[in-house]
Amino acid sequence: MNKLTNPFEIARETLRLLAGRRIPPSPENYQTLYHEIAGTKPSASAFPESELRSLAAALPKASPDQLRLARQLDDAVKAANWDDYKKHLGDFVAGLAEAQKLAWSDVISDLLRLWDAKHPGLTSARKRESLEHVLASSGANPEILFNRMQNLLRSWGQGKEPDALPPADTGIAETAPANAPATAPATATTTDLLPELRELFAFTLETAMATQLVESPQLSADAKVLAQDIRTAGSPAQLQEFLTRLKRFAFKLELLAEDQTELRHSLLGLLRLLVGNITELVLDDHWLHGQIDVVREIIDKPLSQRALDDAERRLKEVLYKQSQLKASLSEAREAIKHMLAGFVDQLADFADATSDYHDKIESCAEKINSANDISELGTVLDEVMRETRTIQINAQRSRDELRSTQQKVQESEARISELERELETTSDLVRHDQLTGALNRRGLEEIFAKEASRATRHETSLCVALIDIDNFKKLNDSMGHDTGDQALIHLATICRETLRPQDTVARYGGEEFIILLPDTPLDDAVSALTRLQRELTKKFFLHANDKVLITFSAGVTQMNAEDTQATVIKRADDGMYKAKQTGKNRVVSE
Ligand code: GH3
Ligand code: MG
Ligand code: MG
Repeated sequence: MNKLTNPFEIARETLRLLAGRRIPPSPENYQTLYHEIAGTKPSASAFPESELRSLAAALPKASPDQLRLARQLDDAVKAANWDDYKKHLGDFVAGLAEAQKLAWSDVISDLLRLWDAKHPGLTSARKRESLEHVLASSGANPEILFNRMQNLLRSWGQGKEPDALPPADTGIAETAPANAPATAPATATTTDLLPELRELFAFTLETAMATQLVESPQLSADAKVLAQDIRTAGSPAQLQEFLTRLKRFAFKLELLAEDQTELRHSLLGLLRLLVGNITELVLDDHWLHGQIDVVREIIDKPLSQRALDDAERRLKEVLYKQSQLKASLSEAREAIKHMLAGFVDQLADFADATSDYHDKIESCAEKINSANDISELGTVLDEVMRETRTIQINAQRSRDELRSTQQKVQESEARISELERELETTSDLVRHDQLTGALNRRGLEEIFAKEASRATRHETSLCVALIDIDNFKKLNDSMGHDTGDQALIHLATICRETLRPQDTVARYGGEEFIILLPDTPLDDAVSALTRLQRELTKKFFLHANDKVLITFSAGVTQMNAEDTQATVIKRADDGMYKAKQTGKNRVVSE
């Protein structure tokens, strides 16, 4: 029969033969006959790809072994290689039973051996306790139990507390010391690593490690390469190699960490030295005390970026103000130098003039001595009179100039000490209000953050009050702005005297103050403010021996979990507003 080539004809002939030979018309029989007639081999597509793939997909993938099998089966399906598929599956099933049997017998014999062995610092009771712990925590899962038992025995073998991990230095690669069969063979140890753990490890290397190592690009790259390796390392040999390189990497990391710690240590030490000795280095250290305090506070606590940013912002502001003040100060000093130089010139001129005068008077005296008649004397006397008048005028001018220079110098000196004082207080501006000595807004921000987190941590109540002096404008208008200032100082002083030391008083605005009352329920906060009102009526403010009654209106509120500084102050402000609306000189809680 001629070989058929047309698929339709082959199909028809196949059906005909199936019927003729009385073969059951199953798809397999049809296929076999079809290829016989066509003279072809079953094509690759005949490979039951989808079935095998779904079988591979249905297999569990909980362990690295299972995962490897899934990958091998997948590869076999892709290559349409039935032989490979069969072999991998067979090997896996055979290996599974073997590995399980081997590993457990090792673990049990190690347990027996190590149970009786003496280990420094490990009592039998301690061993029992840790064994019971392992059994109780992983008894339901044989794989986890196996791993934990191995770790436990390894730690006993190394004479350690069971939960201690082997140090990075000894390396996981050296899991099995020659004299300690206690440790399972490397294959069992590594392949029992849970796949999630492997992925987690890779993730840690890649994400956590590599990104932490931006300043050491080589180590960062090493971490990424290691992450790839742990993902792909399939054979025990590959794993062994990976572990060796991991050990090397860990060693380099250790060195780097040591370097960095040392560097940070040295930097902080340098800063401490500088701050500690600033008095020796800078003569005008009192201009710097505020800034030094800020820096000292920061280096005495664990470093935080936020604290550093905050301090930088505040220092910049103060330094700017100080630079302005210092410029004025050196201008004032320059002016004094100028005046003194001018005065010295003046004195020199005066000295020249007087020596001139002496010369002239001497020559006049000679003329008088040698004068023969009275008419000659007249001219000489005229000359003496003229010279004397000139010198008198000169002397007077010099005296006047000396006086005015002296006055200017005094003025400049006063300005200088005023500027110096200002410089000193500017340093305080970092946190405190210059007029009242209460905290300023910046100081408040800082302490608010601390108090708020303390209240959250200890679950205590933090109350916030906003007080505003009543009719302050009127007081200013009737008694003057300076008296107004004194009244503000008075209020701040009474607040400090009346409230507890742990309470905070901050000047929030012109005649508005914020009071933080930590660890205080709302009712108590209201009482504290009422007490403050009473104190103000008792310790009145004196102006030119007149008693001036200062009152305030206050809003007080308790901070809650959702509050920020802004929201809690807003609520206190609402309360204060209500107090004003309802007649002033009262406390309203919100
Ligand atoms: P109310 O009872 O409604 O609070 O009236 P008030 O006059 O106290 O309030 P207002 O806000 O109208 O006026 C506050 C005044 O406080 C206006 C401002 O001149 C004055 N002030 C703000 N800061 C200072 C300061 O540092 N010193 C002095 N002396 N006065 C200040
Ligand atoms: Mg006001
Ligand atoms: Mg007011």
